[in-house]
Amino acid sequence: MVEDGSIRMTEAEVLELAGSVLRAQGLSADHAASVARILMAAQRDGSLSHGLQRLPGTLDTIGHPRFNRTPDPRPEDVTAAITRVDAQYGFSCLAVERGLPSLIEKARTLGVAILAVNNGFHSTALWPVVEAIADAGLAAVSMNPTHSWVAPSGGSKGLLGTNPLAFAWPRPHARPYVFDFATTAAARADIAMHRQAGRTVPEGWGLDPDGNATTDPAAILAGAMLPFGGHKGSALATMIELMAGPFIADRLSRQSMQFDAGAKAAPCHGELILAFSPVIMGSGNALNEAEDLFAGFAEQDARLPGDRRYRQRALSERDGIAVSKQLLQRIRDLPPAGVQD
Ligand code: NDP
Repeated sequence: MVEDGSIRMTEAEVLELAGSVLRAQGLSADHAASVARILMAAQRDGSLSHGLQRLPGTLDTIGHPRFNRTPDPRPEDVTAAITRVDAQYGFSCLAVERGLPSLIEKARTLGVAILAVNNGFHSTALWPVVEAIADAGLAAVSMNPTHSWVAPSGGSKGLLGTNPLAFAWPRPHARPYVFDFATTAAARADIAMHRQAGRTVPEGWGLDPDGNATTDPAAILAGAMLPFGGHKGSALATMIELMAGPFIADRLSRQSMQFDAGAKAAPCHGELILAFSPVIMGSGNALNEAEDLFAGFAEQDARLPGDRRYRQRALSERDGIAVSKQLLQRIRDLPPAGVQD
């Protein structure tokens, strides 16, 4: 995972690097720190697409006319089982962090609970949050719409988002089982990387602006991406639109795109987080039963999602977090607040 030309940084150094860039843009200390924690976790775990390389792009989001540098999101009890937090047009991370204690307490007491986060600019991976909920002994699901870059199966134009879905399950003697992926055939960043390298993409990744299948990455970026698994991914992405959109009184991906109005900011929308208590809902033996299932994977040498990240995390904890020198220079060269345009 460490490329040539990387240096090693401690967690504290990565946090300070990201935090200082964001504070220099006028973000309040707790707002900046909440984003820095997610970027650090992704960089540490080798999930590089959501690590420090996201930092330069945050300036576009901060430059959105509605972006709020100093939000003060407050959890609000909607019902005994439902908490809502308005991110107040800041990054969603701070609102999520502030809502988590309430979600966890409610799920432990009631067996199931919902956290709805509204009006957050969102460009992060979902796994850090579901993993944290599983660390509290609960199963968790998280999902959100994005921008309408994705055509529905059988369609020809962007309507759905890249709509990530994450799940975590707690394990008594191991790190939680966690998966987290977009519901598209490929990540938008992957398509952009193919374009940059002058390579075609595999069939099934997207459509050109006329709605025809293409392997030309530039045509897909101008046209529409496709969901993974045909009608199955399309249906999952639609569920996410509904449940993290109208269900929690927030934007569909199409509305998020309209809200952006060409600012090239991160999508601004809602996020739905669900937590379940395996102790209350399960037989009391739920966690042991789950271990039998996971043992079945090990017997076949089939890897669990999350295993690669945990291995990379252990390496980063031993050797330091790898950061490419080129990226570090790009971050140090970022313009000061107000001059990025
Ligand atoms: P991938 O297609 O790379 O899939 C990642 C998931 O699959 C991880 O849980 C990974 O585990 C697991 N996995 C990968 N390969 C295997 C394998 N061979 N066997 C078992 N498990 C495997 O993810 P995407 O590119 O679709 O998404 C990457 C990230 O982008 C996610 O974190 C997602 O949240 C984020 N995203 C965020 C959006 C947003 O709106 N904020 C929008 C779209 C995506 P491991 O980590 O251990 O490799």
